[in-house]
Amino acid sequence: MPSMPSTINQRPLVLLLLVLLGCGFLATSLVSYYTALDSIRDNIINTELPLTSDNVYSEIQKDLITPVLISSMMARDTFVRDWVMSGEQDVEQMTRYLREVQEHYGTVTSFFVSDKSHTYYQVKGVLKRVDPQEPRDSWYFRVRDMQTPYEINVDVDMANQDRLTVFINYKVFDYDQRFIGATGVGLTVDAVVKLIDDYQARYDRSVYFVDTAGRIVLTGATGGPMGATVGQALSEVVGLEDLQAKLPQPKTGDFEYQEQGRGHFLNVRFIPELDWYLFVDKRESGALAGIRQSLYLNLLICLVVTVIVLTLVNIALRRYQARIAALATTDQLTELLNRRGFNLLANQAIQEARRNPSPLSALLLDLDNFKSLNDSHGHLAGDEVLRGFANQLRDNLRQADIIGRWGGEEFIILLKDTSLEQARLLAEKVRRQTEQSGFAYQGASLHITTSIGLAELHADDSLTELLARADRALYRAKQTGRNRTCEAST
Ligand code: GH3
Ligand code: MG
Ligand code: MG
Repeated sequence: MPSMPSTINQRPLVLLLLVLLGCGFLATSLVSYYTALDSIRDNIINTELPLTSDNVYSEIQKDLITPVLISSMMARDTFVRDWVMSGEQDVEQMTRYLREVQEHYGTVTSFFVSDKSHTYYQVKGVLKRVDPQEPRDSWYFRVRDMQTPYEINVDVDMANQDRLTVFINYKVFDYDQRFIGATGVGLTVDAVVKLIDDYQARYDRSVYFVDTAGRIVLTGATGGPMGATVGQALSEVVGLEDLQAKLPQPKTGDFEYQEQGRGHFLNVRFIPELDWYLFVDKRESGALAGIRQSLYLNLLICLVVTVIVLTLVNIALRRYQARIAALATTDQLTELLNRRGFNLLANQAIQEARRNPSPLSALLLDLDNFKSLNDSHGHLAGDEVLRGFANQLRDNLRQADIIGRWGGEEFIILLKDTSLEQARLLAEKVRRQTEQSGFAYQGASLHITTSIGLAELHADDSLTELLARADRALYRAKQTGRNRTCEAST
């Protein structure tokens, strides 16, 4: 039997579901994404970066603040002052003093530079004479002229294979507050640099020190932000324009800025002992990549769930719709098409037969004297005969033929690609088979005959006209004695 055309359009319902599910999933995913984003930002700004800053600061204190105290003591030492004032007689005395300091406190170097003789003393004796023309000695003349009592300077140490060293340069005065030289100790920044490197590698953040003028003074082994090196001013570093606009001069606080479209979180802290600022910087992308990935995963899961739900809904709707359509177009007793179902398919078949011209015939069948069968054997017996007769019709016809129960004990058949001649043969076959069949009911074999009216589709026929002609033929079959096949005359 040809399939029923779908009558209900389910697309709007599926679209509505898609929009509802899509919006719902998108909203919950985005809300949880932005909540996670906020809490991660909050954690970076209020916990992670300050904690790094604290740790680096305490390491710095350990490494730098003690040497500042030692240098301060050296500058106030009466031996140093007396030895200079008495004319720097015995070099051995000064070198022994410097060796004592260096060995006792574990510094990499200790020094004294006399202003009078410009002699640079260190543990091994006289290193050199400082010269105002020599760029490497410029530090001494800077210290001599500076207002503050000391400075911390990161420089290479000539006495130690040019190793990067933090010098604490203290001014030394005689008892009348006249400047007589500079003293202090030097230490490597290895421990601090190692700590910075460790933080940078482990937590994907950049740690460096900047002086009050905005110059980078200490970085990890791989350099400062955007590959900047020690000595460079932050304002000169390409890519940090946005930071420069927000932080023209270093100051303590939390900042956010963009570097070539990438967001950064920055914690700046002033270290008064060094007169430096500690910068701890974290790139947003690294920190947020994880939750962005989980957003994408979330959305993917939502998409898959939406597709599955919509597919299931679609299947369920189709099945439900097919079932409803079947119920609405099927006769319950015989499971043949009812009048409505027959009309739907018959109209389609007529259109097809017109499109690609092919013959089409209709058979109208009415069981003979059915009323008396009901009367003598009961209504249930009649039902059983109707069912048996319907099954027989189905068995005799092709899949493409359309068979319906027209009402009561009347049946209708539309034969595709079938001329009147071929239809007559089939009608006769059905009639004879009915005549010869016994329909079993409660042990009895019930017999019945059928009259058949036959008509072929004419060029301009409608279904009604075709059936009217078949009906007239059936009437004639009844009139002329029943149990026979009559054709429509025209
Ligand atoms: P004819 O040869 O002229 O067609 O005689 P008939 O008795 O078959 O004609 P009529 O139309 O007078 O009677 C049809 C009978 O079919 C009457 C009705 O009770 C019976 N009938 C209609 N539908 C059903 C049904 O679903 N089940 C049963 N058992 N009988 C039905
Ligand atoms: Mg009848
Ligand atoms: Mg009848």
